[in-house]
Amino acid sequence: MRVLVVEDEKKVASFIKRGLEEEEFTVDVAFDGEEGLYLAENNPYDIILMDLMLPKKDGLEVIKELRAKDIVTPVLCLTAKDSVEDIVSGLDSGSDDYLTKPFAFSELLARVKALLRRSAKDRGAEIYFADLRLDPVTHKVWRSDQEIDLTAKEYALLEYFMRNPNQVLTRAMIAEHVWDYTFDSFTNIIDVYVNYLRKKIDRDFDKKLIHTVRGVGYVLKEG
Ligand code: CA
Repeated sequence: MRVLVVEDEKKVASFIKRGLEEEEFTVDVAFDGEEGLYLAENNPYDIILMDLMLPKKDGLEVIKELRAKDIVTPVLCLTAKDSVEDIVSGLDSGSDDYLTKPFAFSELLARVKALLRRSAKDRGAEIYFADLRLDPVTHKVWRSDQEIDLTAKEYALLEYFMRNPNQVLTRAMIAEHVWDYTFDSFTNIIDVYVNYLRKKIDRDFDKKLIHTVRGVGYVLKEG
C-alpha cells in the first residue's frame, strides 16, 4: 500500500511516515500543497493523508483539484480545526474522513485501514432500489434515468442507504459506516447531509424514498 502524506510540520510528517513504514506502508511526504498535488497527480497512491493548513496551496484546494481531475484516491484530512463548518467544507470538497490534531498514531492507523477497506468494497456491481441506480465504480447515480450530481459524502451516504434498504439506520450506524466515526456531535452533520441528499434524490419526485424515523434515524423505502 502506497501512501502520500502532505504535511508541512516536519515533526508530524516524520512521525506519521515512521509509524506507517513500520506497518509496511510505502510513504511519500510532501511539505506543501503544490508538491502534494503534483505527487498525487503523478503517482498511484492508495490513500492520501492531507493536512489542511499548508503553504502554497491549502489542503481543501488540493483535494478539490484532485477530484476535478477524477482522481478518486481516498483522502483523510488532518486538521487542527474541529468546528462543524470546517468539517463539512472539508467533506464537501471531496475528503473521505478527517482526524483532528493532536491524534494518537493508533487512531490514525485505524482510520487509514477503514478507508482502505471501504475503497476496496466500492469497486463492485451497480446497485438498484426503486427507480434509483448507483454505480460504485464511477460513483454515478441516476433516478428515473436522470443523472444526479452528488458530492463525495452525499454519494457515500446514499450508497450506505442503498446497500441497506428497508432497514432503519440509526445516526450512530450512519456515523460509523459512512464516516467511520462515532461521537455525538456528529449526528448534527448526518442530519445536514441527509437533507442535502433528499433535496437531490427526492425533492423533484412524487415518490419519496428517504424517510425519517422520528427519534431513531432514517430508512430508505418505497412509500
Ligand atoms: Ca499545517
